[in-house]
Amino acid sequence: MTTQYDPEPASGTPVDGAPDTSNPVPELSSAESSWSDLAARAKRPTFDAYDPPDPKLIDACVHCGFCLSTCPSYRVIGKETDSPRGRIYLMDAVNEGEAALSPATVQHFDSCLGCLACVTTCPSGVRYDRLIAATRPQIERNYSRSWSDRLFRQLIFSLFPYPERLRRLLAPLWLYQKLRLPQLVRATGLLRRVSPRLDAMERLLPEVTVQCFRDTLPTVVPAQGQQRYRVGMILGCVQRLFFSEVNEATARVLSANGCEVIIPKSQGCCAALPSHQGQEEQAQSLARQMIDSFEGTEVDAIIINAAGCGHTLKEYGHLLKDDPDYRDKAKAFASKVKDVQEFLAAVGLTAPLSPLQSEPLTIVYQDACHLLHGQKISLQPRQLLRQIPGVTLREPIDAALCCGSAGVYNMLQPDVAEELGQQKVTNLLNTGATLIASSNPGCSLQILKHLKLQGKSVPVLHPMKLLDYSIRGIQLDSRIDPD
Ligand code: SF4
Ligand code: SF4
Repeated sequence: MTTQYDPEPASGTPVDGAPDTSNPVPELSSAESSWSDLAARAKRPTFDAYDPPDPKLIDACVHCGFCLSTCPSYRVIGKETDSPRGRIYLMDAVNEGEAALSPATVQHFDSCLGCLACVTTCPSGVRYDRLIAATRPQIERNYSRSWSDRLFRQLIFSLFPYPERLRRLLAPLWLYQKLRLPQLVRATGLLRRVSPRLDAMERLLPEVTVQCFRDTLPTVVPAQGQQRYRVGMILGCVQRLFFSEVNEATARVLSANGCEVIIPKSQGCCAALPSHQGQEEQAQSLARQMIDSFEGTEVDAIIINAAGCGHTLKEYGHLLKDDPDYRDKAKAFASKVKDVQEFLAAVGLTAPLSPLQSEPLTIVYQDACHLLHGQKISLQPRQLLRQIPGVTLREPIDAALCCGSAGVYNMLQPDVAEELGQQKVTNLLNTGATLIASSNPGCSLQILKHLKLQGKSVPVLHPMKLLDYSIRGIQLDSRIDPD
């Protein structure tokens, strides 16, 4: 990168304003005060030699600023350093030894939601996805986080990617909810004062039901009618426990449309969560386990119904690029991964569909970032939903803007996530739709949380559940519990 840093800070633009795209110089926080301060502190820690952000990818950025207005962290925080362009500058500065991995620098990387809206917007094709994916493991290897940050992250990474560990917590969580303790905890505001992150986690907790305690799907679900395809299915972690009915609906929809569905019992986590947060070794190990669990299944496609997981599964080739034993297997695996909506739209629905209610039904489809920006899937879910008789789709303002969930971002950066969640729910409600369709468990939880905070009770359903009801002739009115 050849641009010289100018010590004069530039101003960012807060939410809802047009970004200032004229000055490409990142604004620095008071802790940084100037680029020369950053350079002075550039002793260490910094990036190591293993896979730093690629200078060629960094140089592709021409600092035009088109990405700024679509970046959710920039729109909320309003600082250049919390924009794609600013972060690319920071990556370059750390690469060049002009900036250190200081708490302030790391916070600018941590504030990135990884939503990849900037990748969609960038007219120069800058691979910000690759850049941030290279930056995060560098931070985890070379930067020492505070003990409380480490502890919270450890809690997340030792729990969420392991469904069996999560399942062991279900009984105490069930009791906690049955005793109506959440209401008490929230009314006192004590948890928020002690730890806003734990408070955010607590508020996202879905209802623990009987279904959460067991995996109900068999290893093989036969195709109904003439078999057209043999597909594998990934169950997810949070999805498997808290949204098992979405998995069941997905298997039924695939089966009804002529697919034999293979569900290996040995499958674990897809690695999305640790991968998005730079926990590279854990992510690679989980990816290897996932690849092994599908070994020898001879499936035409590997189906996933959660947006964030699908994006990571398609990136296995990159994640395991340096592993000689798994490199080729990872590429072959990734080439078979299809989001369920992408797959069904491509092969076509053969099962007849019935209306979901006697009246016309207005749905707003909420784009999950890792489908829209990460996998370029936006038409297919809409195309499938429109095939249900009586359904009309509405589009919200800022449909491409992240809801603030972003994996575990809403727990790690609750303030920015709150702002984005509120905006998203307001925009969805403003469409006047009576149902929200969402293809990602994280987005669904974030939307449900903010609907509750705004005192609204609009049902949030995965498109697979809607298709499943439609195929089985089940009327929504009798099935939807708006809470
Ligand atoms: S990332 Fe792309 S859109 Fe953003 S400033 Fe660089 S070239 Fe422009
Ligand atoms: S990934 Fe999302 S939050 Fe991060 S820089 Fe790009 S647009 Fe901004």
